Amino acid sequence: MSADNTITKTVWQYSEPLPGETMEFLKGIALDYCKVKNYVYRKYSGVKNLNNLTPVYGILNEMRHCGLREQLNLPAVYYELAIADAVTNIKCSWGTVKNKIGECVAANENLSDDDRKYLRTVLKMGGVYAAVLNRQEYEMPRNARGLDIDVKRLNNLLCRLTRRYLTQPKTACTDSFRISPNGYSYKDGAIRIVCRIPRKRVSIPLKDNRIFDRQIQLHIRQNDVVLAVPVETRVKKHEDYTGTIYVHIGNQNMFTLSNGHIYGALLEELTNPETERLARKNRERRRMYTAYIQSAESGDTHKAEKITVNNLGKSKYDRQKEKEKVKTITFINTEINRMIKEEKPARIVITKPVTNNKSKIYVKSVNRKLTRNFHGYIRQRLAYKCRIHSVELVEISANQTGKICSVCGAEGKRQGREFVCESCGLHTTIAQNTAKNIQQKCAAEALDE
Ligand SMILES: [Zn+2]
Repeated sequence: MSADNTITKTVWQYSEPLPGETMEFLKGIALDYCKVKNYVYRKYSGVKNLNNLTPVYGILNEMRHCGLREQLNLPAVYYELAIADAVTNIKCSWGTVKNKIGECVAANENLSDDDRKYLRTVLKMGGVYAAVLNRQEYEMPRNARGLDIDVKRLNNLLCRLTRRYLTQPKTACTDSFRISPNGYSYKDGAIRIVCRIPRKRVSIPLKDNRIFDRQIQLHIRQNDVVLAVPVETRVKKHEDYTGTIYVHIGNQNMFTLSNGHIYGALLEELTNPETERLARKNRERRRMYTAYIQSAESGDTHKAEKITVNNLGKSKYDRQKEKEKVKTITFINTEINRMIKEEKPARIVITKPVTNNKSKIYVKSVNRKLTRNFHGYIRQRLAYKCRIHSVELVEISANQTGKICSVCGAEGKRQGREFVCESCGLHTTIAQNTAKNIQQKCAAEALDE
């Protein structure tokens, strides 16, 4: 099975409610995991360390002998994964630094073409870049030989830019850690994980019997845990998936197709009552908070305490919010699946997200905002499901897909959700008109080629 034919997805597994003792143990491990990561960040994220990051064994070896593990009494399975996680993140931040420097190099008008060529070559070659940062000797890369450049000046610039953009990562996450396969086993419907006492394991009863053999991310919640397991899924190829569908992603209905079919009908009704409820709740909370501040300031601590206990607790509010979110997310996924299954497309055409000055357009109305918030999620899930089903996803520019009439091409009127064309008498929804325009735009582009 080649890498092209699989795609990694996250599977979630839930534990039963856990005793306080177990929760305390898990929180302790998560806290130490966080400490180890921050230690690695402090020690290895500096400018001079670029060359020590790959392979990770060097750092692992140093960390094994630095005494931190013994001091924390953290089992090696957690300790070493925390180190590996931290190194991965440091490498990631180096990637960001290189991108930023690349942009600076492109934008800097004081640099000649040869200067740029040298700097880009060095940025691409980790070993040479590290030597420059450490002021060590290095062999001039073949690509950069014979250039008309002041090497010293350019190296100084590179060091300066690196120091400017390289930041030390830091984590405050103390409710999550990873665990490798040799750190857990299964027995009687429970996952048993390594604990601080040698040869002992802590048992976490699970809600289902699935077992895995890979690194697991453990998320600690109020009184249970969620396990996130990355698994490879085979990409499916459907011989009977042909043709193209043209899809408008909307606020009221999730998908409106140019063929008139609608999926995710009334998504808005699912998100809107929630938006209104949240707005109401927030108003109430603000009022109570003001009252709290006033009582506290006037020295009425008894009243202030009462308000805190009765009205400012967030857990019920968060739980409700979470429940609504899960409901919406399930709805979105079910409807995307249904569309792919029923339409059997080989290709799906949507428009690119509308942007304004490079940032996504901001809609003031709170009501619209929450649905809008899901647009990113909808696009992401659609892209993912297209990959799984080998469906090609095409994004075209949204230009001219909203305003003009899909029948005669005249500029129409948009009234609420309706689209009216005075020129030919078309009366439809904006979503439907847009989907048809997407289809026509594609047809026109195909003719141009
Ligand atoms: Zn018309």
